[in-house]
Amino acid sequence: MSEFSLDLTEDQEQLKGWIHEFCVDVIRPAAGEWDEREETPWPIIEEAAEIGLYSWEFMAEGMMNDPTGLTMPVALEELFWGDAGIGLSIVGSALAAAGIAAAGTSEQVMEWLPQCYGSPGDLKLGAFCSSEPDAGSDVSAIRTKAVYDEAKDEYVLNGTKTWITNGGIADVHVVVAVTDPDLGSRGHASFIVPSEAKDGGGLSQGQKFSKHGIRASHTAEVVLEDVRIPASFLLGGKDKLDERHARVREGKSGNSQAAMQTFEATRPSVAAQAVGIARAAYEFALDYAKQREQFGRPIIMNQAIAFLLADMKTEIDAARLLVHRAAWMGKNGKFEFAEGSMAKLKAGRVAVWSTERAMQILGGYGYVKDYPVERWHRDAKIYDIFEGTEQIQQLVIARAISGMCIE
Ligand SMILES: Cc1cc2nc3c(=O)[nH]c(=O)nc-3n(C[C@H](O)[C@H](O)[C@H](O)COP(=O)(O)OP(=O)(O)OC[C@H]3O[C@@H](n4cnc5c(N)ncnc54)[C@H](O)[C@@H]3O)c2cc1C
Repeated sequence: MSEFSLDLTEDQEQLKGWIHEFCVDVIRPAAGEWDEREETPWPIIEEAAEIGLYSWEFMAEGMMNDPTGLTMPVALEELFWGDAGIGLSIVGSALAAAGIAAAGTSEQVMEWLPQCYGSPGDLKLGAFCSSEPDAGSDVSAIRTKAVYDEAKDEYVLNGTKTWITNGGIADVHVVVAVTDPDLGSRGHASFIVPSEAKDGGGLSQGQKFSKHGIRASHTAEVVLEDVRIPASFLLGGKDKLDERHARVREGKSGNSQAAMQTFEATRPSVAAQAVGIARAAYEFALDYAKQREQFGRPIIMNQAIAFLLADMKTEIDAARLLVHRAAWMGKNGKFEFAEGSMAKLKAGRVAVWSTERAMQILGGYGYVKDYPVERWHRDAKIYDIFEGTEQIQQLVIARAISGMCIE
């Protein structure tokens, strides 16, 4: 087990510097344009792939070969300091990768993780499809069905997923579906739907959403109509699923929901993204406040502004500490009171608050697109919503601290 430390390792410091440089040179100069275009920034992802930032090896190294758990949060804070929309277009595939890593066999992980990323010149994308029009926070309401066809040893998937990052444009869709409707959320499993399903195989993109923020990241519905996949594309394998269903039917514990496992493991990383946005806004506002003069002196000379910046710095550091604690605890099997949810709850709120206050510090300049602060504010809000809303994090924490099934 690794000891918790506030000091980053030399490798982590180097990684942070490397991503910072990529943000300064490539991401920040392009951020406004891709926000306006509201399209996947393929050329930027290509550049990220060329330097090894967009690759399954990078994700695997960060997720698996790091006893401290801090490597991914450090990398993600830096990347999202650069820009959240482009950042999400670079890490969106990791949601699918995490879903595969959480539920798949080692053979499935080796086969499918690389296919979520491709290689420079031949990029691929992954998408993790859990949410549905009537099943957002309430994952147990998922209706997408996976029916086993014994004669062909295949599963047939039908349903509609919504709000899916990279939905419809991904090469690998990881789809959470109902395998036994009588077992509620414990009758779910995750499936790999490969890119062939898009070529007349029954998977299509529905509505593409036009969004308030993170507009460079593609979000769309995914429609599954009689999508046939080999039974071997069931993550974890059919034998394990049958055993799990049998245990649940006998009233024994049946392992937690497939989708929830993925979300829990990724929460500190998502929270780190929010910290990155908050830090970007704080740094910008601090510089601005030192330079902008009104009444014959820099506006930071007013306590109202200086104290606000002091509060922003304090809140951001507090959020980062929760993120690092949760990442370390998660990595070392020490989650006790939903610390991952605490980190996500705090970081989302801090990002929304800090970016809004940064707009206030910039006055009119905070409200127009000539400056990045209004974009950061739009981007921040999603961190109160996806990967579990603010209220769902509170619910998870409340249940953990009380030991009661709070509703
Ligand atoms: C840009 C974007 C990208 C996304 N990417 C993905 C993705 O890649 N894959 C994926 O599967 N999903 C994705 N999502 C879906 C996201 O996780 C859901 O939007 C989120 O879980 C909330 O679900 P919902 O939108 O249906 O809201 P609802 O669940 O309908 O919630 C509406 C409101 O009710 C509150 N609420 C609900 N239940 C309770 C309760 N029990 N107690 C108190 N309050 C409650 C919520 O907190 C919220 O304020 C994405 C969403 C967006 C907007």
